[in-house]
Amino acid sequence: MKSDIKSLSKKEIEELIKNLFENDSLSKEKLKKLKQLAMSRNLKLGGMKKRFCKKCYSLFTIKNSENRIKMPFKKIRCKNCNYTATYKIKH
Ligand SMILES: [Zn+2]
Repeated sequence: MKSDIKSLSKKEIEELIKNLFENDSLSKEKLKKLKQLAMSRNLKLGGMKKRFCKKCYSLFTIKNSENRIKMPFKKIRCKNCNYTATYKIKH
């Protein structure tokens, strides 16, 4: 990660976050920092928020998460900390 991250534009941060999410080795620490950075810049993580647990910052994988869809909601349970996130499905 660049050290001059605070001087990056919103768009550059968005790109950075997207790129990091493509990387499976994204650590919890990095994820936490990225989330804080996005929040401090008023950036919306959008769909990326559903890719990790907001309680323990584990990146969701098929193994450590459980998805359940009960229209119009989608529930993702983190098997790591047992937190369940609920999202409304938009069409
Ligand atoms: Zn969790």
